Amino acid sequence: MVELEALRTRITGPVLGPLDPGFEEEVAAWSLNYTHTPDTAVGATSSRDVAEAVAFARDNDLPVRIQSTGHGSHEAVTDGILILTRRLDQLSIDPATCLATIGAGVQWGAVVAAAAPYGLAPIPGSSPTVGAVGYLLGGGVGPLARSHGFSSDYVRDFEVVTAAGETVHANESEHPDLFWALRGGKGGLGVVTQVTVRLVELADLYGGSLVFDAPNIDTALRAWVDYTATADPDVTTSVAIVRAPDLPFVPEPLRGRTVLSIRFAYPGSAADGERLAAALRGAAPVYLDMLGELPAANIADIHNDPTAPSASIAHGGMIERVDQELATVILDHAGAAATPPYAVVEVRHLGSRASTDVPEGSAVGGRTSEFTVNILGIPNPGAPARVISEAVGVLVGALTPWLAHVTTVNFVSNVPTAVHAPSWSPEQRERLAAVRGRYDPEGVFPFSR
Ligand SMILES: Cc1cc2nc3c(=O)[nH]c(=O)nc-3n(C[C@H](O)[C@H](O)[C@H](O)COP(=O)(O)OP(=O)(O)OC[C@H]3O[C@@H](n4cnc5c(N)ncnc54)[C@H](O)[C@@H]3O)c2cc1C
Repeated sequence: MVELEALRTRITGPVLGPLDPGFEEEVAAWSLNYTHTPDTAVGATSSRDVAEAVAFARDNDLPVRIQSTGHGSHEAVTDGILILTRRLDQLSIDPATCLATIGAGVQWGAVVAAAAPYGLAPIPGSSPTVGAVGYLLGGGVGPLARSHGFSSDYVRDFEVVTAAGETVHANESEHPDLFWALRGGKGGLGVVTQVTVRLVELADLYGGSLVFDAPNIDTALRAWVDYTATADPDVTTSVAIVRAPDLPFVPEPLRGRTVLSIRFAYPGSAADGERLAAALRGAAPVYLDMLGELPAANIADIHNDPTAPSASIAHGGMIERVDQELATVILDHAGAAATPPYAVVEVRHLGSRASTDVPEGSAVGGRTSEFTVNILGIPNPGAPARVISEAVGVLVGALTPWLAHVTTVNFVSNVPTAVHAPSWSPEQRERLAAVRGRYDPEGVFPFSR
């Protein structure tokens, strides 16, 4: 039982118990699969609020979890304190130093929009509504992964509240062990209250997507597989077979169709981009051509991720290589002639800059894998969660010869529950455990291993 009144006197933001008005809205997650019911929700308005909440939790032997948007919810929080960071929405861009300082509640779309007027861009993920801090703690692979690497490679400083309730900075010279761990180590380390990242000069991209209709899915997927073997190091592509429901929220040309979308991003001139995309554009008749010059401010148009909260079931992983045999497996399970209960099978091409760690090293896992895979289903009356999970399991089984042993923690699956351990090599895991032991010896920040 948490003494709410005692905690309220120490915190400026809302401190709510499950029976208080506004509790449900406060703890709601983007992922509709989980309803959080912590003993107490703390809506932090400053790093001081965070420090007070953590100190209170430690003194009262309560676990602390953290939520920004809830895109990364993998289990329901049923006890302790849940710190909600969405009010930590400070965001500043310094064009002179090309640095952005981003509060823990800020989403990628806001950072992209704030940097664009200066001709600058962060290295974001595919979705504008994912929280920048939660994403960066997992490394982060976005539409520019091959030209620019993992997003956490651009972090210069974290402001962190540790389990001791102290606010510290982690960067190359202060707490370098914590800095190493926060870039890819994800959880069990503290509450990040703000992060400083380096921006890159980027006014325009050659980017977007090429959509192929059902009869051409086979040819387009096989052409993409071949394309990746010799792709330009600055071109990042991914491919997704998408079964769009026949529902009003789906844009008319895609409604009720099964299509293959090739996403393309090249941070260079339109002429070079067009040349580099020619083999993909010519692979088969293109149903929708949405690839061209793209303001960097519109980078989210490349993947067009859903922004509305969703109850999706996801399986993510990494694969070592793609080949025509792998294409056959994907087409057998998810091609135009198949009828899987899941909606999306996506493969992203990494390698190039993503395979090179920062000079001082980081806890990003999976750098040696060249591709990621994501299978995504949205339960509905025709395909309940159990049916989707089983079918995902069958496809994952068929993909096993290609799956990497180490994956990336941001794409950890929630089928049936999240398991984080395969996100790092044994050496990284050992080093992470040592850092967690130093900064959170009593396990104030539970993190499923
Ligand atoms: C639609 C969609 C698109 C995505 N696209 C990509 C992508 O392109 N590339 C990619 O790499 N990943 C992607 N992801 C995965 C995403 O990066 C992770 O789920 C990430 O954890 C989400 O962060 P969040 O803060 O928005 O979510 P939350 O659920 O709020 O946070 C997730 C976890 O991050 C940690 N965390 C969050 N904030 C803090 C903090 N301030 N201090 C300490 N820990 C914190 C906590 O452990 C928390 O449980 C995507 C996910 C979705 C649902």
